[in-house]
Amino acid sequence: MSLLEFEQVNKYFGETHVLKDIDLEIDEQEVAVVIGPSGSGKSTLLRCTNRLEEIQSGEIRLDGVPLTDPDADINRLRQRIGMVFQSFNLFPHKTALENVALAPHKVKGVKKSKAESEARYLLERVGLGAQTGSYPSELSGGQQQRVAIARALAMDPDVMLFDEVTSALDPELVGEVLEVMRDLADEGMTMMVVTHEMGFAREVADTITLMSEGRVVERTPPEQFFDKPTTDRGQRFLSKLL
Ligand code: ADP
Ligand code: MG
Repeated sequence: MSLLEFEQVNKYFGETHVLKDIDLEIDEQEVAVVIGPSGSGKSTLLRCTNRLEEIQSGEIRLDGVPLTDPDADINRLRQRIGMVFQSFNLFPHKTALENVALAPHKVKGVKKSKAESEARYLLERVGLGAQTGSYPSELSGGQQQRVAIARALAMDPDVMLFDEVTSALDPELVGEVLEVMRDLADEGMTMMVVTHEMGFAREVADTITLMSEGRVVERTPPEQFFDKPTTDRGQRFLSKLL
């Protein structure tokens, strides 16, 4: 069974039909890279998965359990689905360590000392063992984004959603963040990754999902997508990148 399933998902903003009959299955440990033109619905798809947006019809299931039911436990769900955005949204007056340890302590009730020792471990894992006491303003964008990833991992999620997490970074800082994501993928994390980084997509993705105008128009292994897209849209999208 797939870990994350989308079945006939439809989402409207007012009159605008933004997600159209989305069917998608993401297996455990799969790295699903989602690409497509601006406005095609990529962010909305991730935000619906985390219930930051509500869908109007269809169902999204995690481990077979509908997470789009009105009576689903949203807080519990958000613990199982980690999300990282383009903007890091760290608490400015808290250190890297405090940023990472906060939610496990406050939301999950993990003892503060334990939450902090786990936070230290996670910060080491994203290459920030020496920056645990630094405030966001003392960190580069790449470092802040790695803190944001550690913060999401601190809840021990089943799935991680990444929405253009390197798009706001100076080019020289992109690599260090992609490196952390690559490590996570190697360790078997299930991930949905919206990105423009085609090198990352080609090397790390198990599947490429191409969206266009609210629909999934192609879903293939990266080798096939990049070497021989099966749809016209896929070919057009690639030709614009080249
Ligand atoms: P992408 O991430 O692929 O660029 P989005 O999911 O952000 O696309 O947007 C898909 C469509 O939904 C766009 O037409 C966008 O204008 C619209 N949209 C996104 N968020 C909102 C919102 N909060 N209110 C109204 N329309 C929105
Ligand atoms: Mg977007």
